[in-house]
Parts: sequence; structure tokens; C-alpha cells
Amino acid sequence: MFKVIKLYSIPARHTPSLVKYRSASQIPQLSSEKYKVKRKDFSTVQANDVNYFKSVLGEDRVLTEEDDVLSFNIDWIRNCRGQSKVVLKPKSTEEVSQILSYCNERRLAVCPQGGNTGVVGGSVPVFDEIILNLGLLNKVISLDDISGALVCETGCVLEKLDNYVRQHGLIMPLDLGAKGSCHIGGNVSTNAGGLRLLRYGNLHGSVLGIEAVKADGTVIDCLKTLKKDNTGYHLKHLFIGSEGTLGVVTKVAIHCPAMPKAVTLGYFGVENFEKVLQLYKSAKSSLGEILSAFEMADFDSISSTARILNLPNPISDFPFYVILETHGSDEDHDKEKLHRFLTNEMKSGLILDGTITSEPSKMQAVWNIRENIAPAGIVGTYLFTFDVSLPMKNYYEIIPKLRQRLGNKVNLVFGFGHIGDGNLHINVVMPEYTREVAELLEPYVFEEVSALQGSISAEHGVGFRKPHYIHYSKDRSALGLMRQIKTLMDPNGILNPYKVLPDE
Ligand SMILES: Cc1cc2nc3c(=O)[nH]c(=O)nc-3n(C[C@H](O)[C@H](O)[C@H](O)COP(=O)(O)OP(=O)(O)OC[C@H]3O[C@@H](n4cnc5c(N)ncnc54)[C@H](O)[C@@H]3O)c2cc1C
Repeated sequence: MFKVIKLYSIPARHTPSLVKYRSASQIPQLSSEKYKVKRKDFSTVQANDVNYFKSVLGEDRVLTEEDDVLSFNIDWIRNCRGQSKVVLKPKSTEEVSQILSYCNERRLAVCPQGGNTGVVGGSVPVFDEIILNLGLLNKVISLDDISGALVCETGCVLEKLDNYVRQHGLIMPLDLGAKGSCHIGGNVSTNAGGLRLLRYGNLHGSVLGIEAVKADGTVIDCLKTLKKDNTGYHLKHLFIGSEGTLGVVTKVAIHCPAMPKAVTLGYFGVENFEKVLQLYKSAKSSLGEILSAFEMADFDSISSTARILNLPNPISDFPFYVILETHGSDEDHDKEKLHRFLTNEMKSGLILDGTITSEPSKMQAVWNIRENIAPAGIVGTYLFTFDVSLPMKNYYEIIPKLRQRLGNKVNLVFGFGHIGDGNLHINVVMPEYTREVAELLEPYVFEEVSALQGSISAEHGVGFRKPHYIHYSKDRSALGLMRQIKTLMDPNGILNPYKVLPDE
């Protein structure tokens, strides 16, 4: 019989942020050495350049001390490390424009950086690119609580925006584990997906307008708040997902959906992956319009996270777990639907055991485990993480294959993700980086994904880690057009070099 069991309170949320590195052993190898990259022919920053930046930003917002700059050079997964000597912290679009115009003239390369939660090495430099950290462009400009249009600066932290719009009966259309640190501008620049894309769609749908600065300092104003605007090319889409290679996003207008009046969460144990798929099919037809998330995690994802971060797992051990959430407008109606669904699927055997709850703290406790799967992977270990799209029926096949291929060379291989979007995250945890394992994983994972017509990056982007694998997902003709667009918008190639586009 299905039982509603007690959920435990869970310690404060763990979100990655710019951290202080206290010991040399925590500092990763330089990306240029680890991945054998050659520096491109850019100028190097001179004392005169630093003086110019100080004249625009003031002394305080130009960081040049090694200790101050270090954490901005390292990505949160501690996979990549750049060698930048300068971090700039503009506070306005005009300052971004002045900096880029100057860098373009001087052929100084620039790495735009948001909350630095990206997982493909896009947010940190590879060599001595200037880090343009956008965290101080963090003001809300306007909110229309009738249309749901929020206009804000790029450096607003996603969670803070969500807290703000909730006071006006709205929610942000995206939610991800890094919400306490990532910026809306970083989300837009990576076309972030997250936990509720299934319900609220991706950012190409919900971003209404963008203001961005091109490499030469020109400000492109597409900051409309209209739902409909068919006047020529839809330029905002160029900046969504281009990972800082085509321009620096400075302002975003985004549509916020109404805050649901009723939210319910189910956390279920399932016997095998085939049953996870059947459960998803059933949830879509039984819960229809109220289904807001359908996530899956295998046993190792949940058990290792619970163990490493000391988070109690609210249900006992199962081969697979499903987190299902509903957003609706009528609590009684939604609960009745969910209970009927549960009763049926307990009887059918698709759900072995689980819990449902509408209590915010209990729902948060379950989301905490799910959202901490990735951060738990880097506690005292080295993490290889892949983010792929696959046809539903083949979604989990690669995990057992990888376990067999890697054997005892690694600690764990596990899979979890946004199954409702066909998006699998593959985590491979090992004591430390070894080239042997790296070569067993890449390009093998991408070849397998490509053979199934999947995508080598579902939502994290290409960044620094995947340009040389992009051909597994992008045709030569499409890559050619991408290069032409890059040349048009950034002829000197100063914006986020070594990222997204492979060398010709
Ligand atoms: C615990 C955890 C969970 C995560 N879950 C998800 C998830 O569910 N879905 C998902 O899609 N991602 C997820 N991510 C990855 C990451 O959080 C997202 O990619 C996020 O959108 C990055 O935002 P950011 O502000 O940290 O950007 P950064 O990491 O700083 O930058 C990412 C890229 O965008 C560029 N960029 C940043 N700001 C700007 C700007 N203003 N203008 C131009 N370029 C810019 C950078 O140059 C870089 O290429 C997760 C990460 C963590 C740590």
C-alpha cells in the first residue's frame, strides 16, 4: 500500500559560488596545459590598459592582485583554469560598451562571466583574456504584473529574481540547482533549461527582449517586452545560447508565468528504467496540464549524494527514483488527480513506494537531494560530467555501457536528469583526473550519442570543453554559417575565444 512518509529537514542549500582556494591542491591544472591549447594572437594587457580601465571603472572595480583574481579564473567544477591578470566589474551598459570598444581597438581578448556556474568551461578564460564579470549589473528595472514582463540587468541572481517576482504573484520561467549563484544573463547566454522546461518551455520562448553590447562596443537595443513582434530578423535569438561569443548581454526582458496556487510533489521508487518511461507516459496523460516537472535519478545518483552531503533520502533504496511535480490553480482538483494517478500506478506496479507532499519544506527537502547531485560529485573527487539529449527509448542505455567500459578505473558512473525533455546528465566520479579515463570517455560518449541522433549538449552549451566535438551534433553547413555570423559580429574574435566554435 502506498504510504505518505516523514521527510526530514535538510541542511542549508549548497550552491556553488566564487570560492576562496585555501590550498594549492585545490587549484586545478591550467586549461592550456591540460588540454594542450595554443594561445591566439591577441595583445597582452599592459599597465596603460589597466590605467584606462581604472579611469572608466575606478580603482575598486579593476582587480589585478593575484589572490583576488584567482577564483574568477577557475570554474566551479574545478575542471578549467585560466591565467587572466585582470577582472573588470562594470556597473552599467555604457561601461561595458566603453571597455569592449577599447579592447576591440587594442585586440585584447575578453571572457564575459556571470555567476560562474557553467559546467563546460565557458565562463573562465583559457589564457590571459580579461574577465568581464557582470555581477554588479544587478538592478530590476520594471515588472508588469499583468503581462508578466520583467525587465532587469544581466547580473541579477536567478533566485533573487524569483523571490522578487513571487511577491507580485509570478514565478521565473526557469529553475535550476545553481539558482542561488547563476545570473539571468548567464542563463540567457547558455539558453539554460532546468527543472521545469517541460512546463514553461525554453528561453527562446520566454525571453521577450535583450540589450547586448557587440565586440566593438555598439549597444544593440532589442529590449522589447512584447509577446508578438514580427518586424524583421529575430535578433535576440542570436544572443540566447551563444555563450558570450557574439556579444555581452546587459539587460533582459523575460516573461514570468503566474505563480501556481497549488504545488504538489511526488517522490517515487521505481523498479527499472522501462517502468520510468511508462510512468512518464502515464503522468502526461493522467496529469496533463498540471504536470510541471518529471525528473529521474538512478540509485547511485541519490545514494551517493545523500551519503556525501549527509542528506537523508526520504524513501528507501530503489534502482530508480522519479520526482514528479504539479503546478495548478486548484489544490483539491490537483490533489484528486494526483491521488488517482498514484492509486492506479501503485496497483499497476509502476510505482513501488514513495511519498507525496504539498508542504513547502518537505518539497524543498526532495528538491535539495536532486539539486545537489552535481555539487556532491565534486566533494573530494574529480568529476566528468556530460549533458546529452537522447531519444527516450535509448535514454539510459549508455550508463551500463560506461560502467562496463570504465570498470574499477572510476568510483562511480551514474545517470540522472530531465527525462521529460530527453536530457540525461552522466556523471563519472573518480579520485583524480587521469588521461586514460578521459580518453575512454571522449569521444566515445559523443560517438554513442551521435549514433542515436542525440545532441552532445542538451542544455549546458559547448563552452571550452566541446568545440572540437560540436561536429557530432552540427552539420558542416550550419557550422559554416555560425562562423560567418561570428565574423560579422566580432571580426577580431575578441569575445570568448577558444569557446563554442572549433578551429578551422
Ligand atoms: C548545481 C548546478 C546545477 C545546474 N543545473 C542546470 C540545469 O538544470 N540546467 C542548465 O541549463 N544548466 C544547469 N547548470 C549549469 C549553469 O548553472 C547554467 O549554465 C547557467 O545558466 C550559467 O549561468 P551563470 O550566470 O553562472 O553563467 P556563467 O557560468 O558565468 O557563464 C556561462 C556562459 O555564458 C557566458 N556569459 C555569462 N554571462 C554573460 C553575459 N551577460 N553576456 C554574454 N555572455 C555571458 C559566459 O561567457 C559563459 O560562456 C547547473 C550548474 C550547477 C552548478
